Amino acid sequence: RWSRVKGRLRTSVGEDVYTSWFARMDLEGVQEESVRLSVPTRFLKSWIQAHYAERVLSCWQAELPEVHRIDLTVRSAVRPVVQPKEAPAPVEARRMDGRPAPELRSTATAPVSATHDALGGSPLDPRLTFASFVVGRANTLAHAAARQVAEGRRGDPVMFNPLYIHAGVGLGKTHLLQAVTWAGNSGSERKVLYLTAEKFMYGFVAALKTQTALAFKEALRGIDVLVIDDLQFLQGKSTQAEFCHTLNALIDAGRQVVIAADRPPSDLESLDDRVRSRLAGGLVVEMGSLGEDLRLGILKSRVAAARAHHASFDVPEEVLNYLARTITHNGRDLEGAINRLLAHSKLNNQPVTLEMAEREVRDLIRPQEPKRIKIEDIQRVVARQYNVSRSDLLSSRRTANVVRPRQVAMYLAKTLTLRSLPEIGRRFGGRDHTTVLHAVRKIEALVSKDTALSEEVESLKRQLQE
Ligand code: ADP
Ligand code: MG
Repeated sequence: RWSRVKGRLRTSVGEDVYTSWFARMDLEGVQEESVRLSVPTRFLKSWIQAHYAERVLSCWQAELPEVHRIDLTVRSAVRPVVQPKEAPAPVEARRMDGRPAPELRSTATAPVSATHDALGGSPLDPRLTFASFVVGRANTLAHAAARQVAEGRRGDPVMFNPLYIHAGVGLGKTHLLQAVTWAGNSGSERKVLYLTAEKFMYGFVAALKTQTALAFKEALRGIDVLVIDDLQFLQGKSTQAEFCHTLNALIDAGRQVVIAADRPPSDLESLDDRVRSRLAGGLVVEMGSLGEDLRLGILKSRVAAARAHHASFDVPEEVLNYLARTITHNGRDLEGAINRLLAHSKLNNQPVTLEMAEREVRDLIRPQEPKRIKIEDIQRVVARQYNVSRSDLLSSRRTANVVRPRQVAMYLAKTLTLRSLPEIGRRFGGRDHTTVLHAVRKIEALVSKDTALSEEVESLKRQLQE
């Protein structure tokens, strides 16, 4: 019967998908209405649960109508990728279209070995080097640390590991990480690998599919400097576990790890505590928003780069000053502004003027800075609305009339300020960040159902923004 079910599955998902995900699935037993199946890795298990649960169940039901439940387990006789063994978890029948993500499909048909592919690294932009990186108050420390890492030689003692750089969008993280990679790969005999977190994820997934996961891991551990960009996109329990192993293995072997993300380690909510503390154990540097002088410097360096190919292109000082003063703090917009001026002046064969600049970059102008809301203000306004005192909100009292307002206040603090969860926890009488996270999730869930609460929250937001 098992072979008939497999046959149905194969027809239902297609040969490619079947070989990728189900070829190593075994039947462990059938008991009344439940079927026990096993796969060799936790990763396969969670992938099948998330994407094919319904298919698997319906293929069984076609053969054995009384089956209502599939228990998927991880076979224990394999290398301990994560925990050696875990309790069977019921596969819930969820609505899914049952097709793997497009990225995964494309790797399935790629002729080259997935390991090789994944370890080819993510593409590097030849312009993102130390030479074109402008140093200013916002990034002095991050730049110095990155340089230090890039100049290291094989076997040098590692000063800070990992080096963890965080900053908002467009503030130069990718630029700095790629600069480290370029410098490292050109100067020394070290092997520096730049990977986006997504690439890491897909590399790992692809390696599992072609059963080269071990080779993938070995190859990763042979790197001298591993550079991972946009860590906040690392998703999935088993890729995270894999990342954690790789991180530990590299650090323990004295190899350098450099990471960038859009938030500090403590705010990477989906990551395991152990990974977070390991990340926080190196050097964590924040890059601030690009100040006006830095913006001006970046604009100038962009103009200089453009002039290498377009000698007649020039941007007058007053235009540069105007752009530095008005454009958003995002480095991408600075680059975009110069590109537009270049395109416009080339196409129309006109010199760049202030008037042209004002017209061309109108949509990149920074809006008025929004009012900065303070946590104290939130506490005060919430306390007034719910008729409790501010010290009630900070206290450990757990009566319902205090708990809900406190959760609302924490939710507002997370959504209206840039404070991290641990920081908010501290400001609410020294609570743990998980308590804050719980409050935020709770209120998020409630406002989508409870219109009265949702209106209260909206009204509080309005009061605070006025
Ligand atoms: P992030 O990865 O933090 O989102 P990027 O590194 O992609 O930001 O930077 C966005 C753009 O701004 C890129 O074109 C980058 O070259 C430029 N940029 C940001 N900071 C600097 C800097 N300090 N010097 C030169 N260019 C910068
Ligand atoms: Mg980036």
